[in-house]
Amino acid sequence: MIARWPAVIGILLALVCAQDAPAASGKRAAPQGAVAGAPPEYTIFTPAELTRGFLALAFGSDLRLGSKLARIHRFEEPVKVHVAAGGSVNRAESYRKILGEFAKEFPSLRLIMTEDSYAANFVVRLIDEKEFPVALRAAFGEATAREFVKRTDPQCMTAVKSAAEGGIIRVDSFIIVDQGDDVFFNCAYHEMLHALGLPNHDQRNPWTALNQDRQVGYLTVYDRALILMLYDPRIRSGMSRAQAGQTASEIAKELAGRN
Ligand SMILES: [Zn+2]
Repeated sequence: MIARWPAVIGILLALVCAQDAPAASGKRAAPQGAVAGAPPEYTIFTPAELTRGFLALAFGSDLRLGSKLARIHRFEEPVKVHVAAGGSVNRAESYRKILGEFAKEFPSLRLIMTEDSYAANFVVRLIDEKEFPVALRAAFGEATAREFVKRTDPQCMTAVKSAAEGGIIRVDSFIIVDQGDDVFFNCAYHEMLHALGLPNHDQRNPWTALNQDRQVGYLTVYDRALILMLYDPRIRSGMSRAQAGQTASEIAKELAGRN
């Protein structure tokens, strides 16, 4: 979920970050093709920075309040994406390009695009902002949708359904197309991370697109590492935090410094 007016607790965040002394390095400009004004990225992280971000973003969700059983959720079947192009600005090609990027970066997703919405297990609806409240009610029901809007004024949304064992069986994503490039690309990348199994936000994390205080709009080295961790064969759907923690830390050691 993208909140339009994220809670601003800047002073508190600054204090927390100062104590946290990130060691990330290898800073570079946003990649070519990113929206003008996209933030720079770091390319080298410590294993602790990757592990901490992974555990914070993979477990628990502010979209599933009351859910006590935090488990790993990820696709275990090939990801079949259907793009339902709509809205007043044609962004279908831009979105498909992003899907192509994820397919290439993460072969283990076995991500393909399909024209058949019934064959898809991941449906993306490209819509105008004014259609969003209706889409939200359809996906989450009246009461839940009203509560989300009241709490966060959400701008984009992803609903993820998982099997009891933890594997993701269905994703519905809603991406706004008529509010400019910034909103579109930020939503597209942010919601893709949710869709693939990182349900949470982390407002203390200065590197991820799942920090709602940041507008990123591209696949950062950091978020790429988190998805590689999630889809590593040693991580499995249904793992608890205790089960995944040590493994995540081992994978992070291998990934740290790679870019
Ligand atoms: Zn979100």
